[in-house]
Amino acid sequence: MTEQADRGDQLPRSKDIDRRTLLRAGGVLGAAGALGAVGAPAYGAGRPDNWLYPGEEGYDGAVAGFNTTVTRRPEAVVLARDAQDVQKAVRYAGRQDLPVCVMATGHQASVSFDGGILVSTAAMDRIRVDERSSSVQVGPGARWGPIAEAAAPHGLAGLAGSSVSVGAVGYTLGGGLSPTFGRLHGYAADHVSRLEIVTADGELRVATPEREQDLFWAARGGKGNFGIVTSLDFGLFGVRTLYAGALLYPAETAADVLPSWRDWAAAAPESVTTSAAFLRIPPDAPLPDEVRGRLVVSVRVSFVGGTAEGTGLVAPLRDLAPVLLDTVEEMPFTDWDLIHSDPEGPIPAYERTSLLGELPDGAIETMIDLAGSGAGSPMALVEVRQLGGALAREPETPSAVGHRDAAFTFFTIGMAPPEQAEDVRAYGARLVEVMEPWSTGGAYVNFLSSDEADPADVRRAYEPEVYERLVSVKSDVDSRNMFRLTHNIPPG
Ligand SMILES: Cc1cc2nc3c(=O)[nH]c(=O)nc-3n(C[C@H](O)[C@H](O)[C@H](O)COP(=O)(O)OP(=O)(O)OC[C@H]3O[C@@H](n4cnc5c(N)ncnc54)[C@H](O)[C@@H]3O)c2cc1C
Repeated sequence: MTEQADRGDQLPRSKDIDRRTLLRAGGVLGAAGALGAVGAPAYGAGRPDNWLYPGEEGYDGAVAGFNTTVTRRPEAVVLARDAQDVQKAVRYAGRQDLPVCVMATGHQASVSFDGGILVSTAAMDRIRVDERSSSVQVGPGARWGPIAEAAAPHGLAGLAGSSVSVGAVGYTLGGGLSPTFGRLHGYAADHVSRLEIVTADGELRVATPEREQDLFWAARGGKGNFGIVTSLDFGLFGVRTLYAGALLYPAETAADVLPSWRDWAAAAPESVTTSAAFLRIPPDAPLPDEVRGRLVVSVRVSFVGGTAEGTGLVAPLRDLAPVLLDTVEEMPFTDWDLIHSDPEGPIPAYERTSLLGELPDGAIETMIDLAGSGAGSPMALVEVRQLGGALAREPETPSAVGHRDAAFTFFTIGMAPPEQAEDVRAYGARLVEVMEPWSTGGAYVNFLSSDEADPADVRRAYEPEVYERLVSVKSDVDSRNMFRLTHNIPPG
């Protein structure tokens, strides 16, 4: 067993720093920022040393998140160091009848608020890998980068999200759709074996397939509505390398690339997880001239297997159109974030999402009309991720993760200063609207944005019967809706 104590984690360092710098610096979406800027401890004198109040040093840093489009002005920030700190904060909020927001990284913008208590779990970033059981126990502040670095020496890897800086707990409670081998092993939530959670009464409960079964079901998919998770155990897999990366084509070739990619993906084995996106590369991105400043089609591929088989699998994609940049190759698992090259934030991101039941030619043509070359789209990214495979199968212990029958996620993101925000938001909404004919009507909860944060939007993330059960569990454990400063499921 290897253990990484809370705090002191270092960002992953690759031997291949030039390639990483080239592909990740600022991300292909072009934003730069400091990982770890959130929740840096700074204590006010004469106070509980981990509670911060407005105006005190460290408060602004602690309430700032990855996505800067929402503002959080809690009456106090609790820089939690352990589960007891979380319990104290929740009990205080209960006595004062205050709402509670939990934040690890601030990656998901939901609601802006003024008042209440913000519990920052950033410092609770313990990672304990157990090679014997191929599992890991993480604290609520642990991010995917350090988890991957801790697991790799054991030849193990988890169902990480596209970015190193996403928090594993928030991600997993929302399902956890991994671009690495999601189609092979399902959602990250499917592999959770135990969680510790502080509920609205301030109690620390342990939920497993055998204990607190309703809570265990609801928290896996229902996200932060049921309490603050202080510890999460989940399974890892024996994966050391991937044959993975992205192929970038001129946006002008989208009509050739996208239908062929869709057909290729439909025939691909479950060991392939893939997505395609219109991506606007910023002019100052640290990338080759061929792609800088261009709108491109990015086809992302991750194959669990070696170069020989991977090369054969990917060969048809390499022939679809002129390839401007090809980063698909065998890589150590710890380089997985190069598949998407997400920005590191903070960024002013406006997002919209839906789920698609199919992607026929008409849907692709519609995407090209609004997001392709000559469309004048202000969006930085318009993406479809293929689902199916193990993502479509119920796990051994059922969970609240919704809409397993969807075929693709649809997701768009635009970044804008406040004066251009309305245009970008309207364009994102329009994109989802024009894709409506192929939508299932559902959404994936991890991709919901601050513009999709009222309960009617959150309801979209679940089948009606799942939503009803979530409301029932919520009514049992949080009847006053203390945990409402998120994508909220109100009690009945
Ligand atoms: C760059 C980027 C890449 C992403 N890639 C993927 C991806 O590939 N696949 C995918 O599925 N998602 C992805 N996401 C979405 C991501 O999974 C969600 O934003 C997730 O909520 C992030 O969790 P966090 O803790 O980092 O964020 P935070 O903003 O800190 O938390 C978001 C929410 O998670 C819940 N939460 C967090 N911690 C706890 C806790 N301890 N107890 C209870 N609830 C908690 C709460 O509801 C909270 O409001 C991505 C997001 C970004 C910004």
